[in-house]
Amino acid sequence: MTQTTKAIAFGDLGLPEHLLTTLSQIGYEQPSPIQAESIPLLLAGHDLLGTAQTGTGKTAAFALPLLARIDVTSNKTQVLVLTPTRELAIQVAEACQTYSRGMKGFHILPVYGGQGMGSQLRQLQKGVQVVVGTPGRIMDHLRRGTLKLDALQTVVLDEADEMLRMGFIDDVTWILEHTPEERQVALFSATMPKPIRKIANTYLKDPKEVKIEAKTSTVERIEQFYWPVSGVNKLDALTRILEVEDFDGIIMFVRTKNQTVELAEKLEARGFAAAAINGDMTQTLRERTIDQLKRGKVDILIATDVAARGIDVARISHVINFDIPYDTEAYVHRIGRTGRAGRSGKAILFVAPREKRMLKSIERATQQPITVMELPSRKQVNSKRIEGFKASISEAMQNPKLNEFRQVLAEYQQESGTDMLDIASALAILTQKDKPLLLDESKEDRPAVQRERQREERPQGEKQTRKKQRQKNTEDQDMESFRIAVGYNHQVRIGDIVGAIANEADIDAEYIGRIDMQDDYSIVDLPAGMPDDVYQHLNKKVRVCNHPMRLERMEQSGQKQKPGEHKRPPRKGPRKDNRDERSGKPAPKGRKPKN
Ligand code: AMP
Repeated sequence: MTQTTKAIAFGDLGLPEHLLTTLSQIGYEQPSPIQAESIPLLLAGHDLLGTAQTGTGKTAAFALPLLARIDVTSNKTQVLVLTPTRELAIQVAEACQTYSRGMKGFHILPVYGGQGMGSQLRQLQKGVQVVVGTPGRIMDHLRRGTLKLDALQTVVLDEADEMLRMGFIDDVTWILEHTPEERQVALFSATMPKPIRKIANTYLKDPKEVKIEAKTSTVERIEQFYWPVSGVNKLDALTRILEVEDFDGIIMFVRTKNQTVELAEKLEARGFAAAAINGDMTQTLRERTIDQLKRGKVDILIATDVAARGIDVARISHVINFDIPYDTEAYVHRIGRTGRAGRSGKAILFVAPREKRMLKSIERATQQPITVMELPSRKQVNSKRIEGFKASISEAMQNPKLNEFRQVLAEYQQESGTDMLDIASALAILTQKDKPLLLDESKEDRPAVQRERQREERPQGEKQTRKKQRQKNTEDQDMESFRIAVGYNHQVRIGDIVGAIANEADIDAEYIGRIDMQDDYSIVDLPAGMPDDVYQHLNKKVRVCNHPMRLERMEQSGQKQKPGEHKRPPRKGPRKDNRDERSGKPAPKGRKPKN
């Protein structure tokens, strides 16, 4: 499908002018394949069944056509988007907010559990045209009559398979049953398990299907790596890679034309010869920039997919996918910019946790594994920097001006009686200016990649015994109890808490003890003696599923307890033991509580 949609522009899809202007302002150059297919169908009012995962641009695929059809002169709810998590609800609402810049009088409201009812009620009363929320809270509002769907035009089910996995499917059908007969339904799901198909068959009328086909393609002579984004921000990670990798020319891919410029500026400021190419540039300017890459005036080109099409420069030794592509075909196109003219090439892909599925699709389509890579350590960066510093001294030694300075320095040494090594060091400080020569090695990073590899390599059965292992490990260890400000109401899973603490505190997951989840907080046992900087980090900075963790020692939270002896506060009502940890609702029959 991508081959035919490649040349399609946003302007061809039937979107109104104000949305096209906004898209251009935010730097989108071209619709992604799922957008090119879905937008005209949704604009025409069809029901839609889209197989698409995070990273394919599916949010804009439904948001743009639905925004195009909103009547801003009415404050009735016209679009309802159901998402499995509050995090996704917020993301979708933010994306719509961005796309609706040119729509005066447009209002959208994200609603989810754990958030105070008061402000939701006020805003619903004032009237919002789009409501995005998790099924539980939407049901609440429908039951109370605080959300009315009589003017509803469209329902979107986003990440339907996730909603199924989390046990929300009955709620979803209940909500669908309470929507008007004549409404449009768009269902997006990364996979199409039977119950989702059943929903589609029951509630979608003659739906059009849109799918991103993963065509298999071979990629040769290209070594492929990925770095799981974690712990270090993408720009710092990129800089480290660039400092340590031996490269000739690099082409780096981002999603928007604005990003090409921003990233090129940031890399230039960090001392790299970088330039941007994007679809806004004239053909002549584009060609001139590519020529600079060919001649070695520029080493790093930051490009969008559109701008990089057809680039054939033999010295491109690396392709860096700073942003993951929309589909596997785009990936194959991108990395095909290296390994030209019989040379070998290297491709590096940054993968955020939510983009893992796309990584797997790429591996399937290329029929090649992509190897997880270690981020160069501060030590490696420092030894490279020292190597480079020494090389620049050797180079300067060859400079004919050396003699002139020798004389001045000899004079200085005599006058001051200073050691020559001190003089040389002082000169080095002058050349280095404010920029430190070395990174602080005492702040070594958390080995996220190492853990990633261990996780990948762990056989399935072993994964299931992880919890037992955690229990066993922590029995032999001095533990301390902490309170964190996330619980059932925040729709987090135990796994999310374990992941956040393991990544951010550099504690191996197996050494994280008992986690006792309550409605709006949890108690976690962790190895005793947590260093203060880690404590401060977990207390002030870390978020779990977008909610501040606010870790506190139990004494400080006013609830001193021995590890593993958490007193539960009295409950208002009975709770079944098999409560679904993410939704905070009883798990459906036959489902074990997850962790
Ligand atoms: P999604 O798959 O909806 O989660 O979108 C992933 C990311 O791609 C988001 O950061 C969007 O802002 C971005 N994005 C979506 N469509 C486009 C496009 N046509 N051009 C550039 N960026 C896009």
